[in-house]
Amino acid sequence: MREYLGGKGTGLVQMTHAGFPVPPGLIITTKACNEYAKNQFQLPSGLLEQVFEKLTTIEKETNKKLGDKTKPLLVSVRSGAKFSMPGMMDTVLNLGLNDETVLALSKATSNESFALDCYRRFIQMFGNVVLGIQKGIFEAILEESNTNGPAKIIAKFKETIKEKTKKEFPQDVKNQLELAIEAVFKSWNNPRAKYYRKLNKIQDDLGTAVNIQTMVFGNMGNGSATGVAFTRNPSTGEDEVYGEYLINAQGEDVVAGIRTPKKITEMKKELPEAYKQLLECIKKLELFYKDMQDTEFTIEQNKLWLLQTRAAKRTAQAAVKAAVDMTNTKIISKEDAIRRIDPLSLNQFLLKSFDPQSKKQAEDENKLLAIGLNASPGAACGKIIFSPDESEILSQNGEKIILVRVETCPDDIHGIVPAVGVLTSRGGMTSHAAVVARGMGKPCVVGCETLKIDLNKETASVNGRTLKKGELISIDGSSGQVFLGEIKTKEPKISNELKILLSWTDEFKQLGIRANADTPIDAKVAIEFGAKGIGLCRTEHMFMQQDRLPWIQKMIMATSQVEREEALTNLLPFQKQDFKEIFKVMSGLPVTIRLLDPPLHEFLPKFDELAIKVSELKYKSLDSTKEEKLLHRVKALHEANPMMGLRGCRLGISYPEINKMQVQAIFEAACELELAGTKTNVEIMIPLICETKELKLVKDMLEKVAKETMEKYKINIDYKFGTMIEVPRAALTAYEIAEHAEFFSFGTNDLTQMTFAFSRDDAEATFLSKYLDEKILTENPFEVLDESGVGKLMKIAVQEGKKRRPELKIGICGEHGGEPKSISYAHKIGLDYVSCSPFRVPIARLAAAQACLKVKERDV
Ligand code: PEP
Ligand code: MG
Repeated sequence: MREYLGGKGTGLVQMTHAGFPVPPGLIITTKACNEYAKNQFQLPSGLLEQVFEKLTTIEKETNKKLGDKTKPLLVSVRSGAKFSMPGMMDTVLNLGLNDETVLALSKATSNESFALDCYRRFIQMFGNVVLGIQKGIFEAILEESNTNGPAKIIAKFKETIKEKTKKEFPQDVKNQLELAIEAVFKSWNNPRAKYYRKLNKIQDDLGTAVNIQTMVFGNMGNGSATGVAFTRNPSTGEDEVYGEYLINAQGEDVVAGIRTPKKITEMKKELPEAYKQLLECIKKLELFYKDMQDTEFTIEQNKLWLLQTRAAKRTAQAAVKAAVDMTNTKIISKEDAIRRIDPLSLNQFLLKSFDPQSKKQAEDENKLLAIGLNASPGAACGKIIFSPDESEILSQNGEKIILVRVETCPDDIHGIVPAVGVLTSRGGMTSHAAVVARGMGKPCVVGCETLKIDLNKETASVNGRTLKKGELISIDGSSGQVFLGEIKTKEPKISNELKILLSWTDEFKQLGIRANADTPIDAKVAIEFGAKGIGLCRTEHMFMQQDRLPWIQKMIMATSQVEREEALTNLLPFQKQDFKEIFKVMSGLPVTIRLLDPPLHEFLPKFDELAIKVSELKYKSLDSTKEEKLLHRVKALHEANPMMGLRGCRLGISYPEINKMQVQAIFEAACELELAGTKTNVEIMIPLICETKELKLVKDMLEKVAKETMEKYKINIDYKFGTMIEVPRAALTAYEIAEHAEFFSFGTNDLTQMTFAFSRDDAEATFLSKYLDEKILTENPFEVLDESGVGKLMKIAVQEGKKRRPELKIGICGEHGGEPKSISYAHKIGLDYVSCSPFRVPIARLAAAQACLKVKERDV
């Protein structure tokens, strides 16, 4: 249903069938929207006739008629796509009013001010959405005419419309409806909707449905209201009714953040009967959908109506807590809970918070400026910027920006996305800024009313202080606090509920999860997040530290083997100590250590910098012998294509003593620990193999070192030799390679680079975005594994490798090892494990369980 009726339409149909109070309406399908676009923006033939015919059913049911001069029917015309795109497309409310029907409405309700309020709203919304007149023009008239009655405002609105469109405001209600339907269709392709789809990877060809529904009125006086209710807290997941409402208002007022609404719990006193109905309804809705709901409602003279329900947008923290709580109360199963969480959203658990000491200091220094609503958790510090355009530009230059606005609207999205946080002076928890920021996991404080923003002067004043553009502020989206200046932030911790959910994943997943870790600290984080080993320890990172770099440089500069070995002897204790610490942290879990991989010039200064230095020294007549020697070596190491040059196992073959030192360090560390009673599980991995003889040569040489070291310590330890598969030829000749390898690990970064012939260092900056825009590629292959090319090579390697050695252990350690779709593919082709950055381990655990459940579902 969702595909044709959209999310909103489907919800309305389901609620109507289940007996919830929903105003009657009809839905035009997404198919009609797509036809409309295909037909050069002509409505499909027969569509209007059908709409008017179906409308008669509604007219009968409501005993009102569109355009009737005594009992006029008013409708809302609202967009609604398959996937929720909050606020991105258009809506028209109160349609059906004209100079005559407004009088009828006034008479029928005996409420002239209400009727005029509806007419004023309708002209304003229609003028903006359908006739394309800027919102600000109407808002300025409203502000100027503050003391004028609604009739005068209506007259001024109509005048403005005539002036701008050279036509009268349309009085024919059927024509109003036709134009509104077209406007909703067109809004599928407005720039902000397109931007939102791109951001959320929603297909462009889905189209929107149009919901035409009888109006119910929250602006009928003090017994009427409109609002939004969540069945649970969307920030924390707490099982408590949550939301807000406005008395005597229409839905748009809440979403637009024009008035700051009241907390839903206050409704208990203000509208007790309707509040009771509302609580009953939303709890039933949650059980009906077995998911947390976000429900829009209107109360018309104490009668409750539901206008929309959808799965609530929530923070990852809330999603996990709600899923675990619902499983514990048997509303859903563990499988449902696992399926329900977007693995990538777990990044939100890694949101920062203020460092308590730094925060205390800011409080003591009286730097707390204001407290707004805590709309989206996480702490952020950045420069105040008032314009979304400027936020976009400055963020591109690496600046940290807090976007400060009176309120945000969908057009601001390009400034919200790159900002580190958002602060608004108006609006509630369901205002645009709040909803959008929550969806992105971005810290956000809204409704900070003490903040007076002057967009022209680009200042914000609060309690006598004036903040200028560019000044630093810190916001805490968890508490709503806004501070002057910088507060240090601290790293996050994962919640108990997430620990529970992740423990459930172990019951379902088949893939093992390891981490890419080069230091004991990384290894500790990996263990804390549940990694069951290290799948890639890049030993070159151990050489980059300050105390080691001079020795590796000496080793590279050596002109003889003796000189080289001397430098390596000095590096050995560093390596050994690193390995020892990592083995200790991993206590018996497998640790895959990759021998030196990058081209050696990466350890030396850049050629250009050196050349300048030499010229400078010479110009000043200073001694440049050392620099010249270095320059000479850098020049000698220069290769046209270094990523295809002297690196990986080719280094080990050209300079065997480097690998020998590394293996000696590994085995000395392991033997000493084993002798002291600590378990080790050593896996030595040779990079960039493309021919099995390379592997045999290196392995034979290194096994000798391993044996000699073990003999020296008089102990035997278990170890494995394996290889990375990161060159297409290696994948294709996996049968031969498996003869000498006990494990394979796909280096999908290099394998992608070499399969596509796309440089992993430059492609993203040069042509890849064009490829994505032109849809030559649907995903960046360095992020999401390319199944049809790279994946096919992997599949061949798995089949061939296992043919030669059935017990061959196979994993993946490129960046794709932490990406959910790629993990699903790894499961599909029968890999044993994936390895990813320690912070991605929770994502990988969840994605691996989901991959398994997906396969099970297909089997059923
Ligand atoms: C790879 O190529 O995928 C890999 C893991 O190695 P690196 O990124 O260090 O080249
Ligand atoms: Mg590699």
